[in-house]
This record gives sequence, structure tokens and C-alpha cells, in this order.
Amino acid sequence: MSVARKIFAGYSVLIILMGVFMFAGVYTMANRLVNHLAENRQDETMDAIVGGLEARYVPSSGWSGLPSELIRELTGDGNGTLIVKDRNGKTAAVFGNEDDAEFARVGITETFTTPDGTTWTVEYTDSTIRFAAVFRYAFRDSLVLVLGVLMLLFAAAGIMFSYGLSKQLTAPLRRMIPVLDELGKRNFGVKADASSNDEFGIIAAAVNAMSAELERSEQTKRNMTADIAHELRTPLAIVSGKLEYLQHRSLPVQPEELLPLQDELIRLDRLVSDLKELSQAEGGRLVLHMEEVDLAELLARVAERVGVEAEAKGIQVKLAESGLPVRAWADRHRTAQILLNLVINGIRYTPEGGEIRLSAGFEEGFAVAEIADNGIGIEEEHLPHLFERFYRTDRARSRDSGGSGLGLAIAAEYAKAQGGGITVQSRAGQGTTFKVKLHAV
Ligand code: ADP
Repeated sequence: MSVARKIFAGYSVLIILMGVFMFAGVYTMANRLVNHLAENRQDETMDAIVGGLEARYVPSSGWSGLPSELIRELTGDGNGTLIVKDRNGKTAAVFGNEDDAEFARVGITETFTTPDGTTWTVEYTDSTIRFAAVFRYAFRDSLVLVLGVLMLLFAAAGIMFSYGLSKQLTAPLRRMIPVLDELGKRNFGVKADASSNDEFGIIAAAVNAMSAELERSEQTKRNMTADIAHELRTPLAIVSGKLEYLQHRSLPVQPEELLPLQDELIRLDRLVSDLKELSQAEGGRLVLHMEEVDLAELLARVAERVGVEAEAKGIQVKLAESGLPVRAWADRHRTAQILLNLVINGIRYTPEGGEIRLSAGFEEGFAVAEIADNGIGIEEEHLPHLFERFYRTDRARSRDSGGSGLGLAIAAEYAKAQGGGITVQSRAGQGTTFKVKLHAV
């Protein structure tokens, strides 16, 4: 059963029940009120009659000899008819001229006992009592009719209202179904109407965010595949071209001729292992050994490790030594790898004669390692994409410099996995500063 039908059925039942209870209440109340008013008046009349009869009763002669104006005397109404019957229902006296049958429907009756112990029944009717009785029946009939018609109208209006309401309430849901269908068919990027200011609007906005995110990740996946293919193609083309050349030359191969081939194979090997590390980090499958790590000490080790490479390029690696430890809660091996990636990048993208300054300290409650170079810098437009996989500001030059294009993506994922992050500030032509922020101990 659709949600619209459920709402419709629920509201309809509710409205019909409400109508039944409301009209039953009105009917009972009005009926009681009218009965009460009529009975009050009748009781007064009957009390006067019984009182009068008892007072006039003469045991020896019964009711004979009582004046025919008795009705006027007792009730003030000369048109009335009064019948007194004994305990067997036999008529003992009649005052007035109505026949008996009429009493059954419109008269009032009372039983009383005279001082000699005889029980009598008195029946009485007059124009007022007849009117009250007729009014009661007529009132009841018209009340039933009016309430019945009103109830039908109420139910019809209620059902129409609940039909409209159920359609209106579920309309945003119905509009969302094709969008979800499209998402299910992997047509990402479709949008639901999120203009309404209610829960449906919130759901639609969430669906839109999900759709945009799926589209983005689909696009990233496509780019990733294209990038990997591209990265593999170049070294493979170089290796196969070189091998072909060596085969056709039909001369013995000199060991140094194999060196470029080995370089390309090393590059391929690095790409594959970088990809593996990145996919592990992104999949949240990184095993971390968290411990207290001194970032100042770690930077000193990294500086030592890149010393030869920096010297070969004529770059100075300067370590700011405060002597104080900067303790972070981190995985020593992964953090060292982050710092190494950043320092190697610094060496790569800083021309001869430049320098790289390494320092550690605390910032906003974080332990921070800073790597600042005065190299070629990065144009502002590239900064938001810098940590994306295979993103390079200058494709050809970066590849020649030996990077896989994954160094920053890996560094960022490692930092994120440890609860920290990396920020970058750069100016083209002036240099770049990376900050690695990790939880301070
Ligand atoms: P790569 O392996 O190409 O160096 P990375 O992910 O390490 O890949 O870096 C991405 C890109 O960011 C580089 O190709 C380079 O253009 C730019 N980059 C990274 N570090 C620096 C830096 N210190 N100075 C200038 N550009 C940099």
C-alpha cells in the first residue's frame, strides 16, 4: 500500500469516527435537553392532578360526584381529559372527552394510592401535553435528518480533504523517486527539488549532496584510471622502444646501455608501491602504531637523510634548532614518510643555490612541522588541487624530476589517518611552505 493511500485511509477513518462521535454527542445532548424540558412541565402538571384527586377522594362514593370542571380546577386547562382507572385497568371516572387510545401515545400517566389503601392510575392529556409529545417526536426526527445529512457532508468533505492532503504530502517523495532511480542507474549528478522548507527539503538536499559526491568520486575514479594508464604508458614506451632498438642493432649490449631501462623500471616500481600505499590509506586500512614522536628529532633525521641529494643540487637544508622537543601523538614511520615527501619535493622544486628551512613548534594546540623552501612556488589556482592524486602543476617537468604525482596525496592521507592534516602556502617564484599538523601530546 502506497504512503499516499495509507495517509488517505488513516485520515478518512479518523474524520468519519470524529463525525460519528460528534453527531452522536450533539444528538444525545439535544434530545436530553428537550426531554428534560418537557418532562419537567409534565411532572408539575401530574403532581397538581394527583394532589387534587387525593384531596377530593371520598372513600364511600369513589370519584362520582366530582365536578366536570375538575380539569380546569386542577390544571388551568379546560381542554384536557383525565381518566382514573382502578388497579385492574378498569375506568373508574372520565373527565373530558378524549378516547382512551390517544393516551398511549401522547398522555402522561401516574399511579397513586388513596388514604383507604386503594391504588389508582391516572391518565391525563391536554393541548400543551399533546404539543410537547408531538414536538419531541418531530424534533427527534428532524434532528436525525439534519445530523445525518450534515454527517454525510462532513464525511465527504473530510474524505476529499484527506485525499488532497495525502497527495500533497507525498508529492515531494514521488518527485524524488525518479531521481533515486537515476542514481541507481549510476546517472550521477541528477538533482532533486530541494526548495521546500521541511523534512522533504532536507532529504532532497542530502540526496543532492550524495549525488554530487557520487559524481565527483565517479569522475575521480575515471581520472585515476586514465592517470594510471598515462603514467604507465611513458616508462613502458621508453623501455620497449629501447629494447627494440637494442634487438635491431644486433650488437652485444653494453651494461651502461641498460641503465636508462633500469631507471624506468625503478620509476614503475615506485609508482606501483605509491599506488598501493595510497589505496591502503584511502581505504582506511592503514595500520598505525601511535606513540609519542618528537617532530624536531624526526625533521633532523629527514634532513640527514636527504643531505647528499640536496648537496648534489646545491641546496642547503637548514634545521631550526630550539633544542626543545615537539611531541606529537603519531606513527613514527608514516610521519617520517610525510616529512620526507615534503622535503624531497622542496629539493625538486627549488633551483640550485636555494634553501629549505625545517622547523617544529606548536600552533593552536597542534604539534607542527614546517618545511619552507624558496623555490619556484606554486600558482594560486593550483593550490586547492595540490593534494589530489596525480595532480601536477607542470606535467612534463614534474615527471622529468622523478615524481609519481602521488607524493602529496599520500602525505595528506597519512596525516589525515593520524587525525591531523597538511596545509600549504605558496607564492609563484618565491617559495612554498608546508605545515604538517598532528595532535600534540
Ligand atoms: P610529484 O611526484 O609530481 O612531485 P607531488 O604529489 O609530490 O607529485 O606534488 C604534486 C605537485 O605539486 C608537483 O607536481 C608540483 O607541481 C607541486 N609541488 C609540490 N611541492 C612543491 C614545492 N615545494 N614547490 C613547488 N611545487 C611543488
